[in-house]
Amino acid sequence: MIRRVLIANRGEIAVRIIRSCRDMNIEMVTVYSEADRDSLFASLSTESVCVGPAKASDSYMNQNNIIAAALKTGCDAIHPGYGFLSENPEFAGRVAEQGLIFIGPGADAIRELGNKSAAKQLARASGVPVIPGSDGIVGSVEEAREVANRIGYPVLIKAASGGGGRGMRRADSGSGLTAAFAEAKAEAIAAFGSGDLYVEKLILNPRHIEVQLIADRHGNIVCLGERECSVQRRSQKILEEAPSKAVNAALRAKLTGYAVKVAETARYVNAGTVEFVLAPDGEVYFIEMNTRLQVEHPVTETITGIDIVREQIRVASGMELSVTQADVSYSGHAIECRLCAEDPENNFMPSCGTIDFLHLPGGFGVRVDSAIFPGIVITPYYDSMLAKIIAHGKTRGEALYRMRRALEELIVRGVKTNLGQLYMILYNREFITGSYDTGILEKSGIREYGID
Ligand code: ADP
Ligand code: MG
Repeated sequence: MIRRVLIANRGEIAVRIIRSCRDMNIEMVTVYSEADRDSLFASLSTESVCVGPAKASDSYMNQNNIIAAALKTGCDAIHPGYGFLSENPEFAGRVAEQGLIFIGPGADAIRELGNKSAAKQLARASGVPVIPGSDGIVGSVEEAREVANRIGYPVLIKAASGGGGRGMRRADSGSGLTAAFAEAKAEAIAAFGSGDLYVEKLILNPRHIEVQLIADRHGNIVCLGERECSVQRRSQKILEEAPSKAVNAALRAKLTGYAVKVAETARYVNAGTVEFVLAPDGEVYFIEMNTRLQVEHPVTETITGIDIVREQIRVASGMELSVTQADVSYSGHAIECRLCAEDPENNFMPSCGTIDFLHLPGGFGVRVDSAIFPGIVITPYYDSMLAKIIAHGKTRGEALYRMRRALEELIVRGVKTNLGQLYMILYNREFITGSYDTGILEKSGIREYGID
């Protein structure tokens, strides 16, 4: 069994992992950058080591320093969280070479599924429907044009190594394709160091539905149901819920079957998420698999009662999952809101400063995952997410009311946030009825809305 874990991340997810370690009586070492010296996660952990300057590439992505810190502090495993090194196959491989356990899938699975174009081919080979598009990477804009002419516009040009909604551009016609191709390529090179692109049909008015699964080394794969993540801005999720209003038992069984097929083909171990889009005509298509713990995992934990980080650690230790598929049942409904330090009046650009007053919500059915406290300085170096607020109810309506109550209680002063926008979503007609798609924010006109 793992006894001491190094957490190679920061912010709320570092705190989240610390909590499961404590529940399991496992010691934890955190790493921090010079900008995070006064962070909550560093003070909550058994031990904490500085791994470099503020810039993420010099600290949280500094493989040498992180591995050295793990060895020096006597850790036997590394949890990468999400972002940073979590989907880096080279890192996973190096961790294993040093005799440490990487709490996640093997380097080969990360490599194969991390390339979204290759992952699509793997899904298709497993009998899972994928969106019509190019057969792998397109080498040139001419090749992209041929594909677009074959499948029909609008199309989406996507970066094979993309993530976080970046490296994607829509093209509505042949004339728009050249610019879309160039922009996607430039953004992909800047963000991911690879300009490999593929083309797929743009599904109009889709819903984003994903399936959480976890697999152990003994051949067990357990699915923990779906999450609805269609409330997105710039293709980035900002509110998630489980279960999805658009998924009935038959569709759930179908999605679960597809997710298991992908995991089996990839010989997947540990927690992972298979993402789909659901078209208005009811067809579902695989889009990608995220080979890590996902930001929105708490909604699944809330309705299943299963601690996903705990299962990750058990599986990484070589143990069997603590639950079988037959043990999994769903209780009520959960909604998560991502509170971000952003300026709604300035195109949701990151907002920096000192949080000089803070009141986080609580009460029945409310969970908050965060690492902020009064006095913390929000710097421009990392992700702008400040906290996740999760509300649980016996019904979707009860969860919605509790989330409204939670946001009413939430007070953050010193930085601008998207709180006003989140609040508006909870009063939006389409959201209330549950009949929304990924265009909800654009259609509702609540894209820009701030509360001071
Ligand atoms: P990322 O790696 O950035 O998460 P995804 O491939 O998961 O990229 O796509 C991000 C979001 O973009 C999806 O959640 C969905 O809303 C939208 N999207 C992706 N592909 C398509 C598509 N072919 N048609 C319509 N929407 C899409
Ligand atoms: Mg995605």
